[in-house]
Amino acid sequence: MTGPYGKSTLTNVPTDHEERLASVHLDIPFNVTDRKALAVLARRISDALSEPVGLYVPHGREWQLDAVSAAESSVPPIDHLGAALASVASAPAQPAVEQWADADDTWTLVCCRTRPVIVVAMRGAWATLSPALLLLARNVELMWRARRAMARARSRLASHRLARRLSQVTGLQPVHEAIVETMASAVNARVAALAIPDAADRGLSIVATRGYALELVEHLRIPPSAGVFGAVFQSGRAIHVRDKGALPEARRPRPRYRTDSFIGIPIRAASDVLGVVCVTDRLDEEAFTIEDVWTLKALAVPAALALGRERALVQAENYALTAAIDPLSGAFNRRHFHIRLEEELQRARRHRLSLAFVMIDIDDFKQVNDSYGHLAGDTVIKDVAEILRRSVRVFDLCARFGGEEFAIIMPGSVLEGAAAVAERIRERIEAYRSSEGPLETLRLTASLGLAVSSPGVAGRDLIARADHALYLAKRAGKNCVRTAEIAPMAESAAQGAAGPDVAAGEPEQTDS
Ligand code: GH3
Ligand code: MG
Ligand code: MG
Repeated sequence: MTGPYGKSTLTNVPTDHEERLASVHLDIPFNVTDRKALAVLARRISDALSEPVGLYVPHGREWQLDAVSAAESSVPPIDHLGAALASVASAPAQPAVEQWADADDTWTLVCCRTRPVIVVAMRGAWATLSPALLLLARNVELMWRARRAMARARSRLASHRLARRLSQVTGLQPVHEAIVETMASAVNARVAALAIPDAADRGLSIVATRGYALELVEHLRIPPSAGVFGAVFQSGRAIHVRDKGALPEARRPRPRYRTDSFIGIPIRAASDVLGVVCVTDRLDEEAFTIEDVWTLKALAVPAALALGRERALVQAENYALTAAIDPLSGAFNRRHFHIRLEEELQRARRHRLSLAFVMIDIDDFKQVNDSYGHLAGDTVIKDVAEILRRSVRVFDLCARFGGEEFAIIMPGSVLEGAAAVAERIRERIEAYRSSEGPLETLRLTASLGLAVSSPGVAGRDLIARADHALYLAKRAGKNCVRTAEIAPMAESAAQGAAGPDVAAGEPEQTDS
């Protein structure tokens, strides 16, 4: 019998075929969706039977000739076998061997119940080999199960490793990098990136990369529906593409990658997508497999916990900062000031350092309100706070003490340095000119009281000394700095209601 593919196979099967089939080695790095492994399997079966063999795998509703042991023309094409493949695949969940005859030829189909099902097909009626073929199909299935179990174990191990690594790193960037690195390595991807949604405009930004520099992409804002990142972000579902040619144009990644296969994985906390990881370019240049998708999904669980944790930390820091900031001036509020003053005094005690403390009160501020209005007064308070911030070091702390009074803590400062800063502030407030229309005519001054901590001084004593110095500055005619003398705590307590001594000798005015 001669069909369109050449001479038909003999029906009298040589007896050693059975043995040769039984000894087909299945110790290949088998993976049902890996073309190379299927090709090896096809070749080994074909060698055992001395017959060209085709391996067919379903893709959606279609079938694909996934591997052939010889020239593709020597095995039946899909359109020829379509009905037969569908019928054998719909058989009960057992391996099956079936004959299929058309006008020219007879075909033998062996269905292996892997998932997806694979069908081995070769020309000829190999009915006599049914037991050996069924055994082979069973072995393929067993091997497939073993491979799946191993893939699951591997992904669990990778997920455990990532969880451990993420528990050791803190801070957003190290967490982002650990996620991308681990996910890319787990599936042997040359290229990977993590995109995070931006709370404000719901766009996505790439925050960590592998295989190319982050600087190339970190400025980009990806609209929430654009490209692979956007599609995964919006749907909250993974995308696994073996061949991007099958995708609509708009969904295809740019053609800068070596392979046509990629995976996009959402990192989810309940229905919230915290990030999207895309991997592409497997190092072996093969398509990503379903096992790769499982691995990434398993890794997305600890990744979600870590991203959630970092997001909560950032939020908590923001809340804490909001609770510590005076909304009008943007300086720290009085509550936060007291907490920090105690901390800084303790630190100063431990390290035997000094600490300077300045109190500032705007002169005749009632008149500012009376002449320019309360809102203009608010603007002036804000501007003075800005002058203070610009006049101190980064680790000094400016706080609004109340009304138009401010306080500055200067850790580690000695008298000379602190007096110079206080004087600079006084000069800058005197030189202040507002650009806001009605306030152009305003001339502003402030009085400052300075105190430097002595060993063991209590916070309230330091405040009282600076306050007294400020009182003396007012009494001296305002627009000047007065300094409280450094006094040990015992003496300062003994001074009682009289208040601490105040040193004269300010540059521009003497104590009256
Ligand atoms: P002195 O030179 O003695 O300090 O005189 P002063 O007018 O500044 O007197 P005082 O410090 O007693 O008055 C502070 C004024 O600051 C009283 C109050 O109406 C005003 N004030 C307090 N808080 C605010 C605020 O948030 N906004 C505005 N616009 N005014 C405030
Ligand atoms: Mg005041
Ligand atoms: Mg005042």
